[in-house]
Amino acid sequence: MSRIFPKILASPIEYLKGVGPHRADMLRKELQISSFRDLLEFYPYRHVDKSRINTINEISAGTEFIQIAGILGALNILGEGRTRRLVSEIKDATGSLQLVWFQSISWMQRTLNPGFRYLVYGKLSFFNGEPQLTHPEMESFTQEKGPEAFPLQPVYPSTEKLKARGLGGRQLSKFTHQLFSQLRENDIPEFLPGQILESLSLTPRFQAFKDIHFPASPAAYLDSLNRLKFDEMFLNQIRTGMIKSQRQKNSRGVVFEQVGPLFNEFYSKVLPFELTGAQKRVLKEIRRDTATGKQMNRLLQGDVGSGKTMVALLTMLLAADNGFQSCLLAPTEILSRQHADHFRELLKDLPISVALLTGTVKSAARKKILHELASGSLNILIGTHAIIEDAVQFRNLGLAIIDEQHRFGVAQRAKLWKKAGIPPHVLVMTATPIPRTLAMTAYNDLDYSIIDELPPGRQPVRTVQRYEYNRPKVMDFIKDEIKKGRQAYIIFPLIEESEKLDYENLLKGYENVKAYFPEPPYYISMVHGRQKPIVRETNMKRFISGETQIMVATTVVEVGVNIPNASVMLIESAEKFGLSQLHQLRGRVGRGNEQSFCILLSGNKLGKDARERLNIMCETTDGFRIAEKDMELRGPGDIAGTRQSGILDFKLADIVRDKNILQQAIRSADRVLAEDPELQLADHALLRGQLMQERGKTVWSRIS
Ligand code: ADP
Ligand code: MG
Repeated sequence: MSRIFPKILASPIEYLKGVGPHRADMLRKELQISSFRDLLEFYPYRHVDKSRINTINEISAGTEFIQIAGILGALNILGEGRTRRLVSEIKDATGSLQLVWFQSISWMQRTLNPGFRYLVYGKLSFFNGEPQLTHPEMESFTQEKGPEAFPLQPVYPSTEKLKARGLGGRQLSKFTHQLFSQLRENDIPEFLPGQILESLSLTPRFQAFKDIHFPASPAAYLDSLNRLKFDEMFLNQIRTGMIKSQRQKNSRGVVFEQVGPLFNEFYSKVLPFELTGAQKRVLKEIRRDTATGKQMNRLLQGDVGSGKTMVALLTMLLAADNGFQSCLLAPTEILSRQHADHFRELLKDLPISVALLTGTVKSAARKKILHELASGSLNILIGTHAIIEDAVQFRNLGLAIIDEQHRFGVAQRAKLWKKAGIPPHVLVMTATPIPRTLAMTAYNDLDYSIIDELPPGRQPVRTVQRYEYNRPKVMDFIKDEIKKGRQAYIIFPLIEESEKLDYENLLKGYENVKAYFPEPPYYISMVHGRQKPIVRETNMKRFISGETQIMVATTVVEVGVNIPNASVMLIESAEKFGLSQLHQLRGRVGRGNEQSFCILLSGNKLGKDARERLNIMCETTDGFRIAEKDMELRGPGDIAGTRQSGILDFKLADIVRDKNILQQAIRSADRVLAEDPELQLADHALLRGQLMQERGKTVWSRIS
C-alpha cells in the first residue's frame, strides 16, 4: 500500500524546507495548514499576469500594475520619523522610475545591490505628480529561479497577522513552489480510470495540482480548476453511492408482504379522488422497497399541495394490512391535529384506530394511548415530538413517517429507530421542493421519490406584488372575496432575532386589519407563537370552521394547514421572507376549486435581491423552479439544512455554477459503480485508495 500511496503528503508542514516549527505553528493557527496536503489544497484565489514586461515610457495616468526590467540605482535614506524612507530608482532603456520603501529599510539596504539587473513589480502610485512604486516586489536576475519564474503568479489569501510576520501571500507561493520541488508525480496518484480521463479530456491529477498553483497559461489554469472540481464532485458521488448500496445490502427491515383489505377497501370505496400518476408511481416505489426485507430510507419530495399526505396515509394502511403499527410525526400541534382529524374522518368506517399524541394531551388520555400502543390495539399514532419520548413504546412499529423534514434534528429522528427491534421503514416528506441538482448531490445516499405533478383541476394561484401605498385597494379586494364566501390569510413576518419587535408589528397589524374589517360582519382569528396552545387552537378551529373569515398570523401557519375555502394569501412585508417560505405560504391557498390569489405587500423601496425574489414568485408557481432560483440567490449551503450535513463542503466546486461538471461527475460515478459497486477491480484500486484517505468526512448515511 505504502508504495502506491506515498506518505509525503501527510507530512507535518514544519518539515517543508523553509518552514520550521515556529512558522508551522502560525500556518496551523491562522490558515489551518498543518500538513503538506493542506498546503497543496490551499488554492490561490487569483493569479497575476507577470508574463509581460513593460517599459517605463509606457506609463500613463491610467497605469495600475507594472513590471519593469532594468538596472537598480543608488540607495538613499531620506526624511525623518514617519517620513523616513529608502529611495532608489530603476532604469531601463526608455527612462527611470522612482522606488520607495518605508518599512524594512535596513533589511532592503542590506539585500539590494545597486548597479545590478532586477525585475521590479508593483502597483503604480503618483506622488506630487511623479509616478513611483512603493514597496515593489524585487527579483534579482542573478537569483536561482523561484516561483517567480512562472508568468502567472498565484495570489493566496493570507491574514494581517501572517503578513506582519513575513508570511504573506508571496511567502506562501514560495512554500508551494518548494512543495512541488519535493513532490514527484507518484505522490499524487492518478485515481481516475483512463477511460473517464480520456473521454472527458481531463488534465491528469498531478498536473492539475501543479497548474492550479503555477499555470503556464490561463487555459491551463481553467483546465486544472475543471479537473479538481470534477474530482470533488465525483468522489462525493462515489462515496455516497457506496454508502447507499452498503446500507441496502446490510440493513434489515420488516416485510410488508401483501396489499390487504384495509388498503383495498380504502382505495376503492373511500379515496375521494383518483390518484395522480406521480402519486401512483411513488406508491409503487414504496411498495417495492417495503417488500424486500431491507429497511426503506426514503425521501419524498413534492411541491406544496402535490398530495404527499395521501401517499403517507396509504402507506400506513399498507403497514396495518401487514400487522404493523405506524406513526406520523409533524412539526406542530396544529398540523398534527389536522392530520389526525383528517385521517380519522377518512378512516371512520374501517377497522383501524388512529390516536393523536401531543404535549397537550392530558395524562389520563395519554396513559390510555400508551397502553393501547404497547398492547398493539392502536394502529396509527400521529403527533409532535411527544411521540419520540422514551415512555412511548410500540408493540411493533413498522413505519415512521416524518412530515416537513427540516424541523427535526437528525438525533431526534434516530430515537424513532430504537422504538422497534428491527428499525421501521422511514419515509421523510419535505416541506418544499429541493433543487434537483442539490438533491442528487446531498441526498445521493438515500432512496428518493418525487411527486412532480399536481392534482388535476388546480388553478395556479394568481400572484401580484403591491406596495404599501396600494393597501386600501388590497383591503377592498379582500372584502370582495369575503363577500363571495371565501376566507383570507394575512401573514406577518417572524424573524427570530427580533421576536419582540415582530410581535409588536403583528399586534399593530392586527389592529390595522380590525379597522378595515369591523366586527360584525367580519370576524378575525389571530394565531402566533406566543399564545397558549389552547388559545391558538381555538382561533385556528374558528377559522377552519368558517366562523372567522380572516386569519391574521405569523408563519406558524406555514406548514401544511389545509383550508380549501381560503382564497387569499396576503403577505405583509413580503420582502423580508425567503423564497421557499413565500412559496410555502402561497401553498396554503389554491387548494379548492376557486381562483386564489397571493398578494405580496412590500415597503415602497426594494433592494435588488428582494425585487428578484418577489418577481420570481409572480412569474411562476413551480416549486422546483423557485427552489433552483433560491439556491442561486442564497447558495446551496442554506437550503434544507445541508450546511450541517457537511456534504457540500466542496473547496472549489459550486453545485449551482458548476452544474455541467456536476452532471459529468454524476454520470461517470454512476457508470463506475454500475460496473464495480465495491471498487474491487484492479482498475479502481487507486480510486478506492483515494476514498480511504478521505474517510472521516461527515456523511449523512441515514436521514433518521
Ligand atoms: P402536500 O403535498 O402539500 O402535503 P396535501 O397532501 O396536503 O399536499 O394535498 C393537498 C390537497 O390536495 C389536499 O386537499 C388533498 O386532499 C388533495 N389531493 C391530494 N391528492 C389528490 C388527487 N390525486 N386528486 C385531487 N386532490 C388531491
Ligand atoms: Mg403536507
